[in-house]
Amino acid sequence: MSCCNWRLSLLTSFDVAAVRAQFPILQQEVNGHPLVYLDNAATTQKPESVIEAIANYYRFDNSNVHRGAHALSDRATEQFEGARNKVAEFINSPTSLQVLWTRGTTEGINLVASSWGREHLQPGDRVLVSAMEHHSNIVPWQMVAQEVGAKVEPIPVDELGVIDLAVFDSLLDERVKMVALGHVSNALGSINPVEDVIQKAHAVGAKVLVDAAQSIAHWPIDVQRIDCDFLAFSAHKMFGPTGMGVLYGKRELLETMRPYQGGGEMIESVSFAGTVYNRLPYKFEAGTPNIAGAVGMGAAVDFLRGLDRSGADTHEKQLLGAAEQALIELGGFKLVGRAEHKVAVMSFVADFAHPQDIGMILDQQGIAVRTGNHCAQPIMDQYGLPGTVRASFSLYNTQADIDALMAGLAKAKMFLA
Ligand code: PMP
Repeated sequence: MSCCNWRLSLLTSFDVAAVRAQFPILQQEVNGHPLVYLDNAATTQKPESVIEAIANYYRFDNSNVHRGAHALSDRATEQFEGARNKVAEFINSPTSLQVLWTRGTTEGINLVASSWGREHLQPGDRVLVSAMEHHSNIVPWQMVAQEVGAKVEPIPVDELGVIDLAVFDSLLDERVKMVALGHVSNALGSINPVEDVIQKAHAVGAKVLVDAAQSIAHWPIDVQRIDCDFLAFSAHKMFGPTGMGVLYGKRELLETMRPYQGGGEMIESVSFAGTVYNRLPYKFEAGTPNIAGAVGMGAAVDFLRGLDRSGADTHEKQLLGAAEQALIELGGFKLVGRAEHKVAVMSFVADFAHPQDIGMILDQQGIAVRTGNHCAQPIMDQYGLPGTVRASFSLYNTQADIDALMAGLAKAKMFLA
């Protein structure tokens, strides 16, 4: 191998060592080796500030919210609603009433499919999703489509992992009522042209849901600028806790949608003669919410806002470039997903072994990657693959992680080829 021409240049001003030091979990050994965590598309690790915010909430402030009867409840409510305000500002939502707490991207999409879909989809209507969607942005639409007699159709994706906008144009007509699109593919890393898609979809009167699960950690998203109708994301993919997410929606849509679930909190008054629903956002938040999750989400937003985000983006791009070049130089591997615009997700297959066997050998060396179809079976089927090995990088990953991955893959090649 020509000496190290794929190594990262140290030109970036982003201080990766300082950021990395904030993640206690990364300072450990796994299977006798320093942990190399490259499964960030599945979930990111949590900085000390998020862990502390959640622990302190339980240590000092735990109580139920919106009950107002005592000091702890007031404190819990203040933190819970304060976190909602932080998220609203983070995505530039016009109001925090349009920020609904969910348990993750999956629940946000199910909420829209179920509540908006049942109301607005008619027999013969069409829902377009890309061929590389995560199952959570396919199955909820199939469920409602089956119920109302609508159709879910794929927007084709090419060999590189790119949506063809000309083909998308040709699919649009007045029967298309919803376009549900991942901002970034978790399986391939492709960044989709959501702004173009939104403009084109709106021109035929369709609504657009953006699945931001894989983009929210990578760059600032302005919901008013991109003009999406709905945006769903998960806290755990942006350095926050699991079991927590956000659904943003345009106010006029949310106001007229029926509640997703019934129960406490979501009602104004209940009687056997009839029930009056609560106002936004509570109409969609039945039951005791994940208060600690909201607190953790607020802390995750603070963490992201405190970063040099464009420096982090440059750092991640450099990691991807270095890792892809190193993989090619190693030989015997093929990249899956070669879009020009990508986040730092490197999906690949080997010509000598099954992805799962490679994953096992890497794990023995303390290297965490994901193997399988990444909940994106349709695109794997299209490529004729059972799955891939996916190394997904975050802002705390380093050149040393890439070196370890390459050494691990060289070992896999030695054992399995
Ligand atoms: N969409 C995409 C693109 C994803 O990567 C994921 C998680 N892998 C989801 C949706 C679902 O997110 P969650 O499991 O947090 O609900």
